[in-house]
Amino acid sequence: MSSNGYDVAVIGSGPGGFTCAVRAAQLGAKVVLIEKTFIGGTCLNCGCIPTKFLWQTLKIKQEIQKSNTYGLKANLEPVVFSDIVEKKNKNILNLRKGVESILCSYNVDIVKGEALFKDTNTLAVSSEDKIIEIFASKIVIATGTKPKEIKDFKFDGNKIISSTDILNLRTIPESMLIVGGGAIGIEMATIFAGFGSQVSLAECQTCLLEKEDTEVSMEVQKNLSRQGLEVMTGCTTALNDINKYEKVLIVTGRTPNSKLGLEILKVEIDKDGFIKTDNFCKTNVDNIYAVGDINGKNLLAYTAQNEGKVVAENIVSGNFKIVENDIIPQVVFSMPQTAWVKVKNLSSYKDLSFGKFLFTANSRAFIENKRTGFVKCAVDILTKRPLAFWVVGACSDELIHTACQILKNGGIDIKREMFFHPSLSEGLLNAYEDALGACTETVKKFKKDIL
Ligand SMILES: Cc1cc2nc3c(=O)[nH]c(=O)nc-3n(C[C@H](O)[C@H](O)[C@H](O)COP(=O)(O)OP(=O)(O)OC[C@H]3O[C@@H](n4cnc5c(N)ncnc54)[C@H](O)[C@@H]3O)c2cc1C
Repeated sequence: MSSNGYDVAVIGSGPGGFTCAVRAAQLGAKVVLIEKTFIGGTCLNCGCIPTKFLWQTLKIKQEIQKSNTYGLKANLEPVVFSDIVEKKNKNILNLRKGVESILCSYNVDIVKGEALFKDTNTLAVSSEDKIIEIFASKIVIATGTKPKEIKDFKFDGNKIISSTDILNLRTIPESMLIVGGGAIGIEMATIFAGFGSQVSLAECQTCLLEKEDTEVSMEVQKNLSRQGLEVMTGCTTALNDINKYEKVLIVTGRTPNSKLGLEILKVEIDKDGFIKTDNFCKTNVDNIYAVGDINGKNLLAYTAQNEGKVVAENIVSGNFKIVENDIIPQVVFSMPQTAWVKVKNLSSYKDLSFGKFLFTANSRAFIENKRTGFVKCAVDILTKRPLAFWVVGACSDELIHTACQILKNGGIDIKREMFFHPSLSEGLLNAYEDALGACTETVKKFKKDIL
């Protein structure tokens, strides 16, 4: 046993923990980061990055197959999926090395092993045959989540698989049942159907992305069906007949990694095991914080990063600011992508006008041969303030950040904003103007002009 003293100890090296550790070190703190598996957490190793790498590979494949649209003749050799997985793994390894070198450049000590609390300031970290004790004034828990199992259908890594298992398959399954129609289910369905698997996607709610805009959800479903997938909504019996499928992917939620000895400290957790925190991401124990997925607030890499930064700044500078996560852009990598952003209290507005602009009428979408989808905008009739944007279409994952800024700046200036032409971004202005009955890029509609 050895003993060390730190200003800040961070448990977990995903986006929340990594960012918190680096920012605390930037501000002059002596920091240790403890990680039991791979540096980079879920996001880098089995989440955001590998899924987007596979999605991008599929997109390139489809573009090559459609190259004739531009008068080009390109032939694609048969896809060897194991080659793609090799490339993905190589890229992840490089990115992981990059993350490690950032941590090293700020003199953050990295300890490989599993951390458990001994008391409010002491962690016991076990790795291989030894246990070390780490003492820190402040401890930030950023241990994230893992795939949630369903009773009677435990992951076996072979037939019944998790989102982590599927990313390491070397061949494309002939057929696959995906249970769960949220973002992860839709992304996996898109990727694996795109590479040739016969995919059935089952969602127990009445529509995919059930908490979101119905029109958007219907468009996503339509695009999935067009890609040859079977989409079963309102389906509670999908698991009754799993013999029909080569693989069954279960993506119905995430379980928090909260087995950290929190009981002895009396750190409060909710009924699902997520750690309860206040607006500063502080737990009920004074020097212990919880950022990212583990506090159950958002389960997104960028909100985890934001929380990690704010917590580091608060605990090192002592000048406390709340974590503001009010306007959060959301993206699902369907094909094409789907994105949205809205003000927090959208449902409290009574007089809304909705505008819509189809990408079939956007010249850049025409040039890029990406005419699927639309931009939709909700505007408060009283103030003419845009309150939400939904974008189904190519590059919506990037467009949504402009929409986000528009909402954050109060939105009204969008009317005089100049968007480059021809660009997909013009769709934001067109949808906004359409909501006011004043879009100059569409034929006149018989609706009340409120411009
Ligand atoms: C398939 C998939 C796709 C996703 N795509 C996106 C996306 O496109 N965009 C997005 O924003 N989000 C995406 N997410 C969600 C995103 O990955 C998570 O929100 C994000 O990784 C959470 O970051 P975190 O730092 O809270 O935890 P994590 O990234 O989960 O990191 C936690 C780390 O803590 C370590 N750990 C746990 N317990 C201990 C312990 N006791 N001791 C030491 N170490 C420990 C774990 O090994 C892990 O490395 C996706 C998730 C999945 C599963």
